[in-house]
Amino acid sequence: MDRKSLLTEKKRIVIKVGTSTITYSETGNINLNKLEKFVRILINLRNQGKEVIVVSSGAVGVGRKALGLKHRPATEAEKQACAAVGQARLMMIYEKLFNEYSQLTAQVLLTKESILNEECKKKAHQTFNELLRMNVVPIVNENDVISVDELAYGNFGDNDTLAAYVARLVEADLLILMSDIDGLYTDDPRQNSDARFIHTVKEIDDHLERMAKDSSTECGTGGMATKITAGKMVTEAGTDMVIANGENIYLINDIMAGKKVGTLFLSHKHGQDVKDEYSPKRAEYRRKAKIEKKTQRSIK
Ligand code: GLU
Repeated sequence: MDRKSLLTEKKRIVIKVGTSTITYSETGNINLNKLEKFVRILINLRNQGKEVIVVSSGAVGVGRKALGLKHRPATEAEKQACAAVGQARLMMIYEKLFNEYSQLTAQVLLTKESILNEECKKKAHQTFNELLRMNVVPIVNENDVISVDELAYGNFGDNDTLAAYVARLVEADLLILMSDIDGLYTDDPRQNSDARFIHTVKEIDDHLERMAKDSSTECGTGGMATKITAGKMVTEAGTDMVIANGENIYLINDIMAGKKVGTLFLSHKHGQDVKDEYSPKRAEYRRKAKIEKKTQRSIK
């Protein structure tokens, strides 16, 4: 199955945006330009008849800004208070932007208990389905205000894992994680010039998991461990996943058009008769690009 026909056919899509995608790293303020573009992309997907569910981070960061805290929240109570203030503000902005297109949204705050407790899970599943049936766009976050860091319940901790739970819960066709990395490399591209970008992963095996765990930087394979865990959770359940860089929010359109951006992790049912797909080595890539440029020039 080719990438284009696989991705253009997706109907129910969960899209996760990280705090770094929706705020300015220098100031911590919301990047309204980008959020506006993001909402327009979502509306357009809805116009194509697709169902979208957003998992949005940002509550703690936005709350911290609103409260004028100069430092990172130091205590659990401080962090949870920031989340309470920030979540309301974040939703207010989403509402305002979606409202320009008369699109209803809903706030869905989940805790890990909502997934581990069968009764809660059933209710959450039911509510999501009803919201989608009513043409509402659910905007999900962890309920940081009451989430506890205990072994018994635990919290999701990160929104990659939360997004994977949500994708499984709603039986999504596709999960897109927009974060601050381009996707998966065979090695850290800053350390190893032979590192190759991985376009398609047929199956998340032990080697890949180890590789993600070993990485410690934010670049290249770095920050990958939670994404690989998320990938494993969804691909096992039949959902494909794409990781791409949220720096350019329009990549969502490219992903949906089946273009080769980000890393695509195939679910078990789609990964059977394909191979992992790597970009050529950098030197090779540069050589090819040079030749191509020359040929184009001579044609002109
Ligand atoms: N739930 C957190 C927030 O909204 C974000 C956690 C994460 O981004 O992984 O601030």
